[in-house]
Parts: sequence; structure tokens; C-alpha cells
Amino acid sequence: MEQRPTLMDLSIAQTQDLVVAKGGRPFHGKSLRRWVFERGVHSPEGWTDLPLALRTRLADELPVFRGSAGEQIRARDGAVKFLTHFPSKRDATGRGAVETVHLPSARRSGAATLCVSTQIGCPVKCPFCASGRDGLDRSLESGEILEQFVRGFAIGPVDRAVVMGIGEPLLNYPALERALGVVREELGLGARRITVSTVGFPERLAKIARSSPGFQLAISLHSPFDEQRARLIPLMADIPVEAVLRAGDDWFEVTGREITYEYVLLAGENDSEQHAREVANKLRGRRATVNLIPYNPSGTEAFDRPDAPSAEAFREVLIQAGIVATVRWSKGLGADAACGQLRASQLAGPAGESLTGST
Ligand code: SAH
Repeated sequence: MEQRPTLMDLSIAQTQDLVVAKGGRPFHGKSLRRWVFERGVHSPEGWTDLPLALRTRLADELPVFRGSAGEQIRARDGAVKFLTHFPSKRDATGRGAVETVHLPSARRSGAATLCVSTQIGCPVKCPFCASGRDGLDRSLESGEILEQFVRGFAIGPVDRAVVMGIGEPLLNYPALERALGVVREELGLGARRITVSTVGFPERLAKIARSSPGFQLAISLHSPFDEQRARLIPLMADIPVEAVLRAGDDWFEVTGREITYEYVLLAGENDSEQHAREVANKLRGRRATVNLIPYNPSGTEAFDRPDAPSAEAFREVLIQAGIVATVRWSKGLGADAACGQLRASQLAGPAGESLTGST
């Protein structure tokens, strides 16, 4: 895409060069980045220690963000979900939205998790997930991924991030890696505080594991059976469950970091005792924990949410087998429940309008 760079696209050195080219001093470059990244002041008028003439020039010539802020909703539990509109390849309006969520911790005050997206739409097309409903528009650029972090940090303190929003992170890895580098350096979120979730491409994982990745890994498992996993995660149809688990083992051996398997619980589909036993068989002796996610109705296809006792029963089978497992009940269940659903409801048209009412 031919567009002029934004601050999000520039390194510290490039920012300094640009500031010097506009008549400023190199330290002005660092200073303005601190305003934006650390203090959440996103517009040049607020960068009060920079000369006025320089601020005016930067306001004209260096956009801070590529995207424009879209709808924002605040759930009763304090979660803030916001859309950012980026140039789209596909949409007639020329804009495509991604969703980011700022989720304060219920237990730790002043702490929050940020959930970010890596693509506009998603090519994986899991039938239960809202993000892939219309396939992939395009991958986000690293500056666009970073923009979500910077906007999210301005909402309130953030001490964890999960790359579990819209898109498949491993299909946009170089951009994600670059963005996470800036997040570590300039937003101060360390590797152990960032989790990237993927459907798990074994060859890509093997390569990334050997590149000192700055994050924790989560792999979406969703079924211990090849045929069923192929249906639930269509883009992984050729890759056997065993190959995914071996990629997880390899990740642990190479990085020394334990991984999490995510398992969406779809009532009557993949939440039977037989499924739980087979997950336990497959994971026994492996270094991994399991995160069970009861399905959030996404309006995509006819799946049902299991009730609490059956989710618990599934978990109990894993626990009995010595596997650490938790059930992640999402908060604020409703139109805006899961990542990706705010955007999906807007794509769907008028239904999305009711969301504004829940602020
Ligand atoms: N593409 C990545 C990130 C997706 S979001 C991945 O697949 O891992 C993180 C998790 O939420 C994934 O495990 C995904 O399968 C799950 N998920 C998607 N839609 C959901 C829904 N409606 N209810 C519950 N979990 C869902």
C-alpha cells in the first residue's frame, strides 16, 4: 500500500532523523515518542516540550496513526472494546475494522489485559468464530498492530497482552514480531506478559521457536481427533493433531517455556467425556496446560454453549489425568462477548447499533 509512514511505522532512529529533517533536535524525537507511548498524548499540540514550530510541522507531516478510532463500548465489568478503522483492500467503503479489548483484571487493581488483532478478517474460517466469517481482507502492517497497543495503553494501565483478537498471528508473523519489539522496548511489556495464540503451523512454530520469541505461546486445539479438528479449523485440515502437539513439545524444548492449549467447548460437538479422555491421553506427560473456553454464541453457525456442570466435568477428567486445566468463562456475555464480535456485528449491519446502548 502506498501511503506515507506514520509514527507507528518508524523506529526511534528514524523518528530522530525525521525530526531533524523538520528542523528539530534528535532528542525531540525521543521526547515525542515518550509522549505518545508512555503518556498516551497522541496529538502534537500536547507535546509541550517541543518547539511550537516543530509541533506544527509534525502535525502536518507525521500522522501518529494510520487508523481512525471507531466505535467504543464499555461493558459493565469495565472491559472496553474498541474498533479501529484501517484502509481496506476489499470493502467498498475503503475501510476495514479491527477490534481491540482492554480488559481490567477482576483480582488485581490497576492491572489489565489488552487483546489485539493481527489481520482484517481471517483466512482460517473456524465455523464457530465470528472473525473469519467473510474470510481475509488483508494482514495488518506492524504499525497498525502497534497502533492498537498504543490506543489500548491510553485507556488505562496494561500489564498483559494477548494476541487473540481477529486474525491468525502466524500468517502475519514478521509484522507482529516487529510490533512486539516496540511494545517491549517502548511500552515496557516483557516477553512473559505477552501471549500469542495460533492454530499452530508446525514448520512456522519450529522456526519461530529458534528465533528467541518474545512471548508465551498458546495453541488452539479444539479437538483431539484429526477429522473433527479439520472441520473446526479448516485451514489446518492437512495437519494431524499429533504434528501440532509435537510442534508444542518442540517449542517447550527449545524455548523452555510451557505452552497453553486452548479448547473451545461446543456443546454436543467436542465436549463429551470421550473427547476429554482423548485430550487427556494425548497431553499426558506433555508440558502444557489447557484453557477451556465455553463457546460464546457468535451468530455464525449452529453451535451451543455448554452449561457449567458439563464444562466442569470436562475439566475434571483432565485434572484427574494430572493436567492443569482451567475454564475461561468470558465476562459480559451478550452481543459483545468474544473478541471479533463487535466488528462482526457491525459488518452484519443494524444489529451492531444496539451495542452502543450498552456503554
Ligand atoms: N487465530 C488465533 C487467535 C484466535 S482468538 C487462534 O485461532 O488461536 C483466541 C481463541 O478464541 C481461539 O482459540 C479461538 O478458536 C477462540 N474462539 C473464537 N471464536 C470463539 C467463540 N465464539 N467462542 C469461544 N471461543 C472462540
